[in-house]
Amino acid sequence: MIEDILKRYTEPTVTTVCSHSSLQIFDGARKEGFKTLGIALKKPPKFYDAFPRAKPDEFMILDDYLEIEAQKDELLRQDAIVIPHGSFVEYMGADRFRELQVPTFGNRRVLEWESDRNKERTWLEGAGLVLPAELDLDEVDRAVIVKYHGAKGGASFFIARNREEIEARVDKTQEFTIQEFVLGTRYYIHYFYSPIKEDGYALSKGTLEVLGIDRRVESNIDEIYRLGSINELARVGIDPSFVVTGNLPLVLRESLLPKVFEMGEQVVEESLRLFGGVIGPFCLETICTPDLEFVVFEISARIVAGTNLFISGSPYADFIEPGLSTGRRIAKEIRAASELGRLAEVIT
Ligand code: AMP
Repeated sequence: MIEDILKRYTEPTVTTVCSHSSLQIFDGARKEGFKTLGIALKKPPKFYDAFPRAKPDEFMILDDYLEIEAQKDELLRQDAIVIPHGSFVEYMGADRFRELQVPTFGNRRVLEWESDRNKERTWLEGAGLVLPAELDLDEVDRAVIVKYHGAKGGASFFIARNREEIEARVDKTQEFTIQEFVLGTRYYIHYFYSPIKEDGYALSKGTLEVLGIDRRVESNIDEIYRLGSINELARVGIDPSFVVTGNLPLVLRESLLPKVFEMGEQVVEESLRLFGGVIGPFCLETICTPDLEFVVFEISARIVAGTNLFISGSPYADFIEPGLSTGRRIAKEIRAASELGRLAEVIT
């Protein structure tokens, strides 16, 4: 039991895989006085030498991420608390990650609700959010985006305008979803839910913070207009693609902040009802339409790479505490929970 393991811990080591958002996780942990451990393949990544404040105190070098499970005893010996990020879960595989008997920040149960598209919809619709319509092939009457299940970073998604276009292109050997293409501006909102912090934007239990907002930069969709209209380009065989290559910082019209907090609140409250809560960082991936309505097309239930923009704070985090990154916020939560003897509420 993770709870029993936690009782034996004296000084946690903040541990993650060297990728994704690991630099800010290590930097934030160090600022809060934790030891840090980076898991990497073959040899320590050289670029960490260039960023001394974000380099972990020690590396655990493996040949394959699948060996993490076999390193369990060594991780427990070091009082490791694992911080999951998107690459961590992807490299290990969601099922193996769920079974890993090493204390992990956040609620592992969220994985089953996030990785199954139907359950994700149940959660977000139950929270009262507006989601893009999902259409069957014979219902397609507007621009749609076709998404393969489990596709990484939007790779191989495509836009279509009618059934014929979909049938001509879709790979029917893969599972896919046809979603209404929502036109508007994208905002990826970085939330943090603490079940133990009491002062702040209060929920039925704990508090909710917004630490930042970004927009993913996707190639080539974000610049394709420079070459001509999508219709013209399609005729010469150039299609938009959605591969994430980076992130841009954003702020929202201040008048939209009440909606942003309401959405986050509803998502957390529904998660508390369904599976004990989405603990720590999560991100709603939204499109704000010209009617100023947010359509939510995805949730990421852990630290997202867009938070890498805000290592020394953001236009939102600065109103909570100067210099607060999401990585540092995680370390603070572990510290606070540890001091209150409530680690088991934020670590599973
Ligand atoms: P996802 O893997 O679901 O995050 O989607 C990858 C990218 O496709 C997003 O970052 C958006 O740019 C775009 N996208 C996804 N769903 C929609 C939608 N329903 N309408 C418009 N664009 C979308």
